Amino acid sequence: MTTSDLVRRGERSAALREQALRRTPGGVHSNVRLNGPQVFIERAKGAWLYDVDGRDYVDHLLGQGPNFLGHAPGDILAAVERACRDGMIYGGQHPLEVAAADAVCDALGWAERIRFGVTGTEQVQAAMRLARAATGRPKIIRFEGHYHGWLDNILIAPGERGWGPATAGQTPAHLADVIVLPWNDADAVRRTMAERGSEIAGIITEAMMINTGSILPRPGFLETLRELCTAHGAVLIFDEVISGFRIALGGAAERFGVTPDLATYGKAMAGGWPVAALAGRADLMDRFGTGEVNHSGTFNSSTMAMAATLATVTRLRERPPYEQISGYGDALREHLVALAAKHGVPLRVQGLPMAFHVSFGTDDAPGGDVADHRGLSRLDLARYERFAAHLVDHGVWVAGRGIWYVSAAHGDAELAATVERLDRAFATWVA
Ligand code: PLP
Repeated sequence: MTTSDLVRRGERSAALREQALRRTPGGVHSNVRLNGPQVFIERAKGAWLYDVDGRDYVDHLLGQGPNFLGHAPGDILAAVERACRDGMIYGGQHPLEVAAADAVCDALGWAERIRFGVTGTEQVQAAMRLARAATGRPKIIRFEGHYHGWLDNILIAPGERGWGPATAGQTPAHLADVIVLPWNDADAVRRTMAERGSEIAGIITEAMMINTGSILPRPGFLETLRELCTAHGAVLIFDEVISGFRIALGGAAERFGVTPDLATYGKAMAGGWPVAALAGRADLMDRFGTGEVNHSGTFNSSTMAMAATLATVTRLRERPPYEQISGYGDALREHLVALAAKHGVPLRVQGLPMAFHVSFGTDDAPGGDVADHRGLSRLDLARYERFAAHLVDHGVWVAGRGIWYVSAAHGDAELAATVERLDRAFATWVA
């Protein structure tokens, strides 16, 4: 059999998958990847992924968001390599973490203090713990369809009797202190705060619902959350693990003009390296500093994490890619809509150009108002998921749940390649 036969059949990926399944449950190390393409990647550079069978893909998933500057960005890589040569984890403090803390707080504008960690999941936990400690209250309001990490006290899924545990091994008791409300519904939050305000430690929200549907906050919604938290002495937490540094250098506070008390960051903040952060008001965050509230982590503020963060935030500040990324995203969306129309496919696109959502509209809601999780469930998401797999087969790497990310490494060549591949994918798509 020739090499090109192997490539065509994806045999190297298939062999690796078989081998992986012998040691690794489901063949993957994150359940998010269970339903993704079972293709093994050999390397990635800029906006491109290359698999072990010699195929290439224009990447619009970006590792679920972190590769905002493209894969293996040279300047960030050089900064990390320099830092690593002098050691990685000291179990003590070092100058780079001081510079990174200043850089992130300065870029955000509103944040007075910061603690670094590794994952978004743990930053959410730290934020909720701080809110509970500061208020002496137990309950956290969270919203339908938002994702705040995979731990028991916050993960939810819709069920027959409303929102509840999302996985075997998680019990309703784990969620006893969580109140789930529809998003973008100011009246629902107003009512709950009026009835139960004295129990509410905080409200956690994705400032923009990027993960599921790329849905913008309705005008006035974030402002209402701000007013209610202030009025009731609760803590407003923006989960900006996806939106931070992506929708603007200063995140949601810059983009939407509403300032939280605490906010979580990760993904786009560190050029692809595993770094996350909790930032916020001094009077809240300083509870970590006095030791009143615990926040720990062996790998927090490693030299490589801090070098990556400092280099990324400095670059975002000195050479902002936002205009270029928006221009690319707008052009790509126009091509998507035009190609879908050419091939008679009822495609629906919404959100911001740097992180937009693509789906097929159902007959009764072809372009209806999708302003929350309930609106999304009217769309034909399953059909789009099948189309996304077909698109991956044609060399465009996208998520089945519809989100398309754009990076600073996407340019003319990537647009031309994506359009050509999309055209072929639509032409061969049998719904
Ligand atoms: N919060 C939001 C809004 C996210 O999108 C994610 C992950 O996608 C998380 C928290 C969890 O972050 P991590 O996967 O780094 O634990």
